Amino acid sequence: AIMTSPQTYQPVLDRIAAEIEKTPGRGRPADYIPALAACDPRRFGMAVAEPDGTVYGVGDWRQPFSAQSITKVFTLALDLAREGDALWEHVGREPSGNPFNSLVQLEYENGIPRNPFINAGALVVTDRLHTQTEDAAGTLLDFLRAESGNDRLAINESVAASESAHGDRNAALGHFMAAYNNIDNPVPVLLDQYFRQCSVEASCADLALATGFLARHGIRADGTRLLSRSQAKQVNAIMLTCGTYDAAGDFAYRVGLPGKSGVGGGIIAVVPGHCTLCVWSPGLDERGNSVSGVAALDRFTTLTGLSVF
Ligand code: GLU
Repeated sequence: AIMTSPQTYQPVLDRIAAEIEKTPGRGRPADYIPALAACDPRRFGMAVAEPDGTVYGVGDWRQPFSAQSITKVFTLALDLAREGDALWEHVGREPSGNPFNSLVQLEYENGIPRNPFINAGALVVTDRLHTQTEDAAGTLLDFLRAESGNDRLAINESVAASESAHGDRNAALGHFMAAYNNIDNPVPVLLDQYFRQCSVEASCADLALATGFLARHGIRADGTRLLSRSQAKQVNAIMLTCGTYDAAGDFAYRVGLPGKSGVGGGIIAVVPGHCTLCVWSPGLDERGNSVSGVAALDRFTTLTGLSVF
């Protein structure tokens, strides 16, 4: 059935949660740091936010979790808002088809990462945002707090320390790009900002609301404009083509929405003009996307008929 009234979001969410509950095989939590490895893969939450800020939710939708790579959408938008197309001289916009932390493409593309959502590209974006604002992670946090209306949103500093302790690969990416003059700040400063960015904790409700500007074609919760209509379209397009690691094709096929996942098990998604979604369940598939999260978004677009196609 094609959805005609937003009042029907709640029954749709309840139905999806009941289906997910019965589904065996929820994947495995990320295990590269202890804080993520300890998460219970049976946890599940999902929220839908309308452009006016009304939120619907089910399950663990108010439980904060580690946002991880979901934050890459917000740093991209915040930097694009400040420096516009100049950003694209430093990072590309093509899907990579390689794992998120891959080093190989950098060498034959002169230190220009393929897109802003693989780690190399996200490091470039955070570096540039840090140059623009002198506090990339703080700018991100302020934005998320303002858009979600939740002042208690915070960075989990012990997760950040753990990221740093296991951060050799990100350090390698940073230094490698610095060798091509594609990093502005000292690499240790950049890495500190990036690990703190990854360690933001927020709930499905918070992140669905914070993503609202992408459903409102660039307009923030307070009615001011962050991005031009065309820039909002661009961010949504990059999410569709690059937002779910090297499984973006499969995600587009199954879900049909711009989305961005993180290894904490969260996924945000946008139905431009209609609503934003965030789903969380810590069990991941082999590509790093939440198993129940993708399944739930797949069911949502099937049940509502809402997709960009
Ligand atoms: N902190 C993780 C890393 O950079 C984030 C990975 C992710 O969510 O994709 O390795």
